[in-house]
Amino acid sequence: MTPTNRTKCRCPSCGAEQVWQDECRRCRTDLRELRLLNENSLLLEQKLTDALDIGDYRQAVRYAQKLEQIDPVLLNEVLRQLSLSLDFGKNSANTL
Ligand SMILES: [Zn+2]
Repeated sequence: MTPTNRTKCRCPSCGAEQVWQDECRRCRTDLRELRLLNENSLLLEQKLTDALDIGDYRQAVRYAQKLEQIDPVLLNEVLRQLSLSLDFGKNSANTL
């Protein structure tokens, strides 16, 4: 599974989209906390996918729970990618 690439952010004050930086280019809002939160989310995502890759599902659930607390949108994306990567076969819906 490929980790999410979040190279841009949207300023919560003015809505300007930009690359991650410590300050909004338009309104000068301090974005450091958001940037750190994004970095922590991506780190948790990486740890979650690594745990899944080696079959450590108990640890993967722990990382997923932490990720849900700080970034539920990213967790939803990880789960969506995971479901797409699973091969259930073409007729699996008929067998449920
Ligand atoms: Zn701004």
